[in-house]
Amino acid sequence: MMKKLNCIFVILFILTAVPAGLIGGETVLLDTEHIQRYRGNTGKWMHFSSYGQASAFIHKCGTDINTVCRINNVSSRNISGSYIFIPFSNSYVAELRKKHIDFVSMISTSDQFIWPISNTELITSGLGRRWGKLHPGVDIPSSRGTIIRASMEGKVIFCGFAGGYGRMITLEHRNGYISKYAHNSVLLVKKGDYVQKGQVLALVGSTGHSTGNHLHFEIRCENIPLNPLDFLPEKSNLEIRHPGRLY
Ligand SMILES: [Zn+2]
Repeated sequence: MMKKLNCIFVILFILTAVPAGLIGGETVLLDTEHIQRYRGNTGKWMHFSSYGQASAFIHKCGTDINTVCRINNVSSRNISGSYIFIPFSNSYVAELRKKHIDFVSMISTSDQFIWPISNTELITSGLGRRWGKLHPGVDIPSSRGTIIRASMEGKVIFCGFAGGYGRMITLEHRNGYISKYAHNSVLLVKKGDYVQKGQVLALVGSTGHSTGNHLHFEIRCENIPLNPLDFLPEKSNLEIRHPGRLY
């Protein structure tokens, strides 16, 4: 199967903000609003490709690296390469409001599924048989609180606790496809929501039958588990520890 990294990210201006979920009783606006509230802070979800880029932006927002690391529960080495929340200082917020900068969202225009965790480099367990049982997806280890994104646009058909899967979200896509995101610590959407590809769904955790923080990710068609690696953009640096036997 030919796979190409052809995800083109575009900035779209969206006129309404959609409440995506609750953290500690506070409404979290994800992906649709430029200035958002997260864990008691006002700021923006950002993705940086280098430490220097992150550090310059953090400085511009009137905050500091230590605060960013604390809010996102990451070390300073990990502030590039994944989505993190950058809190803005009060004066920076006031500056932006004066300029009427609002309502920005990032949506992929590609037809493909995208990686639910953008900086994935390791799969600890692939699709296949292990100890006589089918492991119906891939396990992506990641630190607790890492953002999980919708791999494809769709409708939330399950959002809640599902036994061994822990806190789980199931999305229904076109042509009989569904995707599942399991073991989450926090769920940020609700049943019946329509989500865009790339929209934040949940945060990584270790709920249900799990031995550490990771995302268990499945793609099924007509409820048959398929190998997500056949659908996701190829990654040259991806390490797969236990690929799993298919027969
Ligand atoms: Zn798994």
